[in-house]
This record gives sequence, structure tokens and C-alpha cells, in this order.
Amino acid sequence: MDLSKTDQLYIDDLFATSPVTSTTTRIHCRVCDLVTTVPLEEKALLCVHCRSDLASTAKHIADRLAAAEDHAAETYERLTADIAHADTETQERYGRVIGALANVHAGQMSKGAFDARLRATLAQYSELGTLMERFDAWNDAAESAGRVREWSELAMEEVEAARDVVTC
Ligand SMILES: [Zn+2]
Repeated sequence: MDLSKTDQLYIDDLFATSPVTSTTTRIHCRVCDLVTTVPLEEKALLCVHCRSDLASTAKHIADRLAAAEDHAAETYERLTADIAHADTETQERYGRVIGALANVHAGQMSKGAFDARLRATLAQYSELGTLMERFDAWNDAAESAGRVREWSELAMEEVEAARDVVTC
């Protein structure tokens, strides 16, 4: 190999830089989702802010979960109250729609066929629309609460891991 002087200088320069001895790593904070750098030996996937006050972080997690679950419960109460106040015919129609939706989830009816039938039914019976809106709101809130519950479980694992480090 015949290296020019410039190449040689470049190579010398490469070896002059210290080898990678990084003692930190990049993480996504499990609580606030911040991308941050923490020491490699850090046991918990928490940013500096979330780690600084574990009691407050645990409370934040619990509060967010409670708010999501309260919202789901409220939307369910609104749905059941509206069902109770609907006339018998609408109640029965709503029951059939929910039954058909169960068939969609069971793979016995296509979502497209269900949507088309629901649109046709709603065009004819507008009073069913309110119940379906309530149902959708509850469904969204319940799914959202499920996601918050998963997040809170993972986040609390990290808070517990950080607590273990503190008490060691
Ligand atoms: Zn954080």
C-alpha cells in the first residue's frame, strides 16, 4: 500500500481520536416519551426530569390512568342512559346493530357490508344515530383507556426499577 502524505495524516488523525468509550445511552423515557441520554448503568428508562421525583411521577401516571378510565366510564354511562331513554323500537334496532358488529368482529360479516347496512339503517332511523354516536364515543374512550393502561404498567415498571436503584 502506497499512502500519500495526506492519507497518512488522515489515518494518524483517526487513531489520535480516543476509542469509543461511551458511558451513556439514548433512551425513550417510558413516562414522557422524551428521547434523552442516560448513564449506561441506569436501570430505569426514565429521563432526568421523571427520575428526579419518583413519587410525583408515579402520581402523574396514576392520575392519567384514572382520567382515561373515568372518561371511558362517563361515555359508557351516557350510552346506557340514552339507550334507557330510547323507545323500544330504537332499543331493539340498536341491539341488532351491536349484534351485527359482533358478527364483524367474529369474522362472520365484512366491515364493508356492516357499514353499508348501518348507513342505510341510519338514513331511515335518525334516532338510532345518537345511540351509535354514543357507542362510538364509548368505544374510542375504552380503547384509549386500554392504551393508557398499557403505558401506565410499563411506566410504573420503570419507576419501580428506579426506586430499587435508589434504595440499594
Ligand atoms: Zn420523562
